Amino acid sequence: MSVLIYAENAGGKFKKSTFEAISYAKAIAEQAGTNLVAISIGDVAPGDLTALGKYGAEKVLNVSNDKLKNFVNQAYASVIAEAAKVQGADIVVLSNSFSGRGLAPRIGVKLQAGVADGAVALPVIEGGKFTVKKTAFSGKAFATVELTSANKVVALTPNSYKVVESAAAGQVEDFAVETKESDFKAMIKDIVRSTDKVSLPDAEIVVSAGRGLKGPENWGMVEELAELLGAATACSKPVSDAGWRPHSEHVGQTGIAVSPNLYIAIGISGAIQHLAGVSSSKVIVVINKDAEAPFFKVADYGIVGDAFEVLPKLIAAVKEY
Ligand code: FAD
Repeated sequence: MSVLIYAENAGGKFKKSTFEAISYAKAIAEQAGTNLVAISIGDVAPGDLTALGKYGAEKVLNVSNDKLKNFVNQAYASVIAEAAKVQGADIVVLSNSFSGRGLAPRIGVKLQAGVADGAVALPVIEGGKFTVKKTAFSGKAFATVELTSANKVVALTPNSYKVVESAAAGQVEDFAVETKESDFKAMIKDIVRSTDKVSLPDAEIVVSAGRGLKGPENWGMVEELAELLGAATACSKPVSDAGWRPHSEHVGQTGIAVSPNLYIAIGISGAIQHLAGVSSSKVIVVINKDAEAPFFKVADYGIVGDAFEVLPKLIAAVKEY
């Protein structure tokens, strides 16, 4: 018996959310009194694979196959489910990232497993019960669910669990898989932007702006504040629909879900569809000129004021700090 963690990489590099998920999976394995096996798919440097041991993976299965170089939902799910069967793993853990959200239910079907996606805390394993706290209703509520099936899939919300390191190293093994043509019927083409900016799903601070900024020409101050804070930039859906910002920055129910330590919302009304993707942020700061804007109801700190006056002052204050 073991716990299997899918170690997701982006362009051959493991992400912070992957280290969080491995640390989380290690804690589950310790609770269950079993060992932790990681699986990596795609081209990752041998040193980076071995380093997964630092986060608790005793064994690292390396799947290096030309057909699996780019992420393909169905094919990746087949490989991970197959690895779980071969390893006798009854718990599969992965990050509730964009790809993790597509993989979790597919792995669940293949393993006949109960799925807890959007997990925000360690499962409680007690008296034969396995319960997990997770987000529900697009992040508007939390639910504690019991997984009663023999196999279980748990997808961890990024930024919900701390990275825990040790001095260990993982033992890397090649894991050969037969791929089925039927797994490649629908392919997602991953478009990677070459940028030195902080990646949005992994960011600890997000500076986000909406239609209140009036037009794309005014995003300079948003970017300046983000750069000063080491933050990623994000936006509301209408802003990306209008082409003011790239779609990769759109957060919310139909965009990326984020849960940074700090979310700064500028000129965003706080519609439920927007809140669905950001409400699990640890601290929310809202800047809006309308004191009745719904976003203030979920804000930890609010500034009622014109963004064009508030932002330059905020930038000056951060520079001084
Ligand atoms: P607005 O609603 O126009 O709000 C602009 C805000 O800026 C206002 O509160 C205003 O008071 C404030 N403002 C104006 N001028 C200033 C100023 N000078 N200084 C400070 N504040 C100012 N939206 C998302 O964001 N993400 C989603 O994933 C998403 N999915 C959706 C899915 C569906 C099925 C549907 C129907 C809608 C979805 N939406 C989504 C759209 C959502 O309902 C809202 O329309 C959208 O979030 C509003 O964007 P906004 O707050 O930028 O714009």
